[in-house]
Parts: sequence; structure tokens; C-alpha cells
Amino acid sequence: MEKQIGFGSLCVHDPKEQIHTQPHQLPIYATSSFSFDSIEQGMDVFLGKQPGHIYSRFGNPTIDTVAEKISRLESFGTGFEASGLLTSSGMAAIATLLMGLLKPGDAILTQGNLYGGTTALFRDVLQPLNIHFQTADLNQFDELEALLKKNARIRLLYYETPANPTLDCYDMAALAELAHKYNCIVVADNTFATPYLQRPLEFGADFVVHSTTKYLNGHGNSTAGAIVGKDKEQMREAVLPKLKLLGANCNSWDAWLLNNGLKTLEIRMERHCRNARQLAQWLEQHPRVEKVNYPGLPNHPSHEIAQRQMKDFGGMLSFELKGGLEAGKQFMNRLQFCTLTPTLGDVDTLVLHPASMSHISVPREVRLQYGITDGLVRISTGIEPIEDIIGDVEGAI
Ligand SMILES: *Cc1c(COP(=O)(O)O)cnc(C)c1O
Repeated sequence: MEKQIGFGSLCVHDPKEQIHTQPHQLPIYATSSFSFDSIEQGMDVFLGKQPGHIYSRFGNPTIDTVAEKISRLESFGTGFEASGLLTSSGMAAIATLLMGLLKPGDAILTQGNLYGGTTALFRDVLQPLNIHFQTADLNQFDELEALLKKNARIRLLYYETPANPTLDCYDMAALAELAHKYNCIVVADNTFATPYLQRPLEFGADFVVHSTTKYLNGHGNSTAGAIVGKDKEQMREAVLPKLKLLGANCNSWDAWLLNNGLKTLEIRMERHCRNARQLAQWLEQHPRVEKVNYPGLPNHPSHEIAQRQMKDFGGMLSFELKGGLEAGKQFMNRLQFCTLTPTLGDVDTLVLHPASMSHISVPREVRLQYGITDGLVRISTGIEPIEDIIGDVEGAI
């Protein structure tokens, strides 16, 4: 018989866990720490001599299972095993990775049309730490090579393809080849495409980052990010320690929601792509539409590159209405079915007017340089029946 303990102690202490069969679905581990059977076991886990968890800021079974799933998706078909970490957001993934890889004096080479938060992170967080960045057109290889030759401080090439909101695509294999020639690390933000459409590691990237808040979760109900690296040792020695110290870890609940979304990634992406293609074709022939940006259209400047490196052309598109800013605003206000929101990648169709929303603080001439005209509308095509999406867009145009 066990020794009798007091009523209050029975309230506080849990009986031994009643797990006799494996749960069918991933459990949410709501525990900040893990306990050890002996001091020896504790030492071995701390030293990494045996697997085990210590403290949820360093990871726990829920978080690590989902990180492992994303690393398997990003390395699918590549023949090597990658390693993954989950973070509290896409921004946390980017910040943690770059702080793990770069030191003061280093510089980043990247594109001007990055996700706005990423540009702001480079400018307002990394630059004050003496990690500088330089932007260039990632389709101009002569210019890129000249920059790499001239500036030996550039240690890292950072890219997004397709890029927001004109869906310009960049040749991932050629970028990696050029960067590696100058001993630069290659990092890809694969948020827009997801590993269903393209796997940058296969095209030479060393690391992939994600805002899983978008397509990977797909339902707009969790904020998280992911880092996937080809080199397991570098992930363990350079990236994980920074994640622990910055406290950039994901939590179990958001990881669980992300995992739930991931289960349907393939079928969601199939429908997102099919709907976006049909919507782009419909918009292209509309007399009130000036221009449609969708890499799946043969006249898009990146059509050929996209065809070479993507399985399909994705769910994102943008288009320009005749009539500029006023036409763009009126269109947005007349929509009944599509939702006006600044995120993307959810199951429902989401619409954004960059000139009055995401890029409102960017000077007009700067945004025009990146194709963000006054009447430009961005659509994240949902998985609803295409007739309902086109019907709403038609009514609003
Ligand atoms: C949203 C987004 C981010 C930032 O991710 P959060 O989860 O919002 O922190 C980074 N890159 C791209 C391409 C994004 O769309």
C-alpha cells in the first residue's frame, strides 16, 4: 500500500499518468517542464546523451512533432533529412534564424519587395546591431554578382518567391548557385508557395522559413512560424540556442492548431491553385481590368521560372482596376462574400488593397517602383466554389 498522503496533497499531486494505449491524435502538452526519474537521467537529458524534454521553452512533444512534420514536408523527395523548429510567429522564425547565422559586420543581400515586416526587421532590428542589408532585383544576375564581388561582408542571400503582391518569381537554383560561389548562406521564405508547390532546399537553399500563420495552418486561427535547415548540426548548435535564449518558441496550442491545418494542406492547395487560375483567367478578359498578376498566366513575366520550379501556380493573385485608387476603394467596399483582411492563405477568399492598407505608409513613388499601383487589389483565393468567388468579384467590379 502506498503511504497515505493528505487530502490537500491528493489535490496537488497527479496519480501516475493513465496512458496505456497511444492517443490517435496529437495531444496538447500543457506543461512548462518535464520531470526526471533520477538525477542521472536528468544529467543525460541535459547533456543530450539521451532524448528527453526539459522545459517547454526548449520544445515539448506537441511542438517537436509538428516541427518534425514540417521538416519532412520541406525535405520531401530531396533524399536528405532536414531539421525543423517551431517559433511563435513567422517574424520570430526570421529573427531567430538570422541572429543565429550572422554576426555584427555581416550583411544580407535581398530583394526590395520583401514582406513589409521582414524589411522593417532588417532595418529597425538588425541594422542597429551592425548587420546591414542591401536590396537588388533578384532576376538581374550580373548586378547580383557585381554586388557579391564588391561587398565581401555579404554572408547571406535572403529571398521570397513568389513575391508580394505582383507575384514575381526568382530562379531558386540559379540564386543558390551564385550565392554559394561567394560562400553565402541561402535562406528562403516559403510562406507564399508552401512545400506543396516548391521545396527550396531541393533548389539549393540552406534554410527555409515560414509564417505558418498563412497556408500551413490555413484556417486563420493560430500564429506561428517555422525554421527548417538542411544541416542538422548547424540547427542544433547555431539556431536552437538562439531560439531558447530569445524565447521565440511556439506554444502547444498553436502548434496543435497548425498540425490540424496541415492534415489538409495538399487538398487545400489543389483547390486554392485551381480557383486562382480560374479567377485570373476570368479577370483577364474583363473590360474594367487593366492587368492581372498571376504566374500561371502565360503573359506573366515569371511564368517560365514558375513553371520550372513550382508544381502549380499558387492561390495568390493581384489585379489592377482601371480608374486607380478610387476604383480600388469602391471595389473593396462593394464586396459582400470575400473578406477584407490583411492576412492570406486561409480557406476563405481574402482581399487586400495595398495602397490603402498594407502599404499605406510607403511613399507612393517607392510602392510604384514595386508595381504596387493605386488600383492594385490582392486576392488570396479561398477554397469555396469558384462560382461564389467570381460572382462576388463580378458584382463589385
Ligand atoms: C506573414 C508573413 C510573414 C510574417 O509572419 P507572421 O506569422 O505574421 O509573423 C513573413 N513572411 C511572409 C511572406 C509573410 O506573408
